[in-house]
Formats: sequence, C-alpha cells, structure tokens
Amino acid sequence: MGVRINSRRDCMQIQTVIFDMDGVIYRGEKAMPGAKEAVRALEKEGVEVFFLTNNGSRTRGHFARRLSSFGIKAPLGRVYCTSYGAAKYMAANMPGATAYILEEDTEKEFTDVGIRCVHDEKANAVVVGLDRKLTYAKLSIAFRALLRGAHFIATNDDPSYPVEDGFLPGAGAIVASLAYSTRRRPIIIGKPEPYMLDLIVEEHGIRKEGALMVGDQLSTDILMAKKEGMKSALVLTGVSSRAEAMEGRIRPDFVIESIRDVPKIVRDAAKR
Ligand SMILES: [Mg+2]
Repeated sequence: MGVRINSRRDCMQIQTVIFDMDGVIYRGEKAMPGAKEAVRALEKEGVEVFFLTNNGSRTRGHFARRLSSFGIKAPLGRVYCTSYGAAKYMAANMPGATAYILEEDTEKEFTDVGIRCVHDEKANAVVVGLDRKLTYAKLSIAFRALLRGAHFIATNDDPSYPVEDGFLPGAGAIVASLAYSTRRRPIIIGKPEPYMLDLIVEEHGIRKEGALMVGDQLSTDILMAKKEGMKSALVLTGVSSRAEAMEGRIRPDFVIESIRDVPKIVRDAAKR
C-alpha cells in the first residue's frame, strides 16, 4: 500500500500543538484543571507539544520548572519565552551589540548567546518587557540610550495579563511609556508578531499548516495564528471572551471552555 503524500486527510491533521501559558496552562500560581492530563493525552497520540509565552520576565529554565511543578514535563527546547526570543534575535541581527535589559532576572538568556549586558545609557540595544522592579532611574537609562540611537526591542506589547484575582498592567504599559517619551517604535518579539513562531520552525522544523495554536487572547495568540496560516483555538479561561470571539474581526477556528478540550480537537481533525 502506497503512502499518500499531501492528501486532503494529511492536510487536516494536527501534528503540533503550541500552548500559550498564562491563562491557558495556569493563571498566576495556579494550574488550570486538566492541563497536565491534556498535555499527556496529546503526547500519547504522538502530537509535538510546545509552550510559547509572551512573558519575557523570566528565563526558559524558570518556565520549564513552573510547568514541571504542575506535573508537565517539558524539555527546555520545547519552552519558548520572549526573553529567549529577544536574545536570539539580537544574536542573529545585531552581532556584537551590548544590551540594557529592562526585565527581571533574564540576563542569563542574553549572556548564554554571547551578548554582553550593560547597565548604562551607552547600551547598543534596550530590551523592554515586564519589569516588576521598574524604577524611574531604570526608565531614565533606557530613555537616554534610546535617544542616543540604541535599538529598541520589546519582548512583548501585552496591555495586561491575568492573575488569580483579576488583571495587572503588562509589558506594553512600560513599552508605551518609552515609545511615547522617545517618539520611537519598538521591534516586537512576542505574539502577534511572527518572530517566536519562526524560531520554533527554525529550531524544530515544524509545519505551520499542521499546527494548532491554543491561547486565551485574540489580539496575540489567535491573531498570530491567523496571520501565519495556523489553526487556532481560543480557550475561555483567560483574557478574551466568547462574545469577543464571535463578534470581533479575529475569529479563532475553535472556541473551547478549557484546555481539557484540546485533545478532542486533534482527534476530530484526524477523523475528517
Ligand atoms: Mg495568555
């Protein structure tokens, strides 16, 4: 029996699932019910699972440990955060540049790829994200470096993010203050921009057409998937609501109540 290549059936199958993390796998420090089981079920069926967060305020190691504390064993190579993405972007596009990082505890990602981190306005690049220890002094260094012509890189532009008891201001709030005061626009590493997805493609050779993006935010997760030709599922445990998905201009392929419903999407796609 011959193997059919590129048949309609092959096209419908989902070989890869990329999970957003905040609002999908966990909210704040709490795991979503059924997250561990859903990931396990997918892996059992041979689906490649990746984790992709716009959060750039921690390292990949931190996110891998957090996943592990929720019972999800993810190798470092399957965990993507935007501090790692920004470091890879700088290494590829700005060889020899120094960086001032307006994020917490993420310099390791940069030094790991050979970038020297500095703490003054002579930096060649300013990397801005969610810095919960932001001070006016730090903002001033970043502002002056940008006025001197440093590259302006934002790990992400999220306006807010979900926590146990509601929402908090996101990296976008800090990025906006620098964009406003310097009249400059940043290069954005995180979703909905395609850079992080391209990095997964480059490092793992996944096919976008055979991939499903699962996220809680229409303007980041789902918009990126739509722009990049991926299927998408909006999960209603985070930022965006069903009403927004139905009436808005960004329409996901699936709207699901919980991460628990993801294995069924993959199984149904295989049956078609
Ligand atoms: Mg999210």
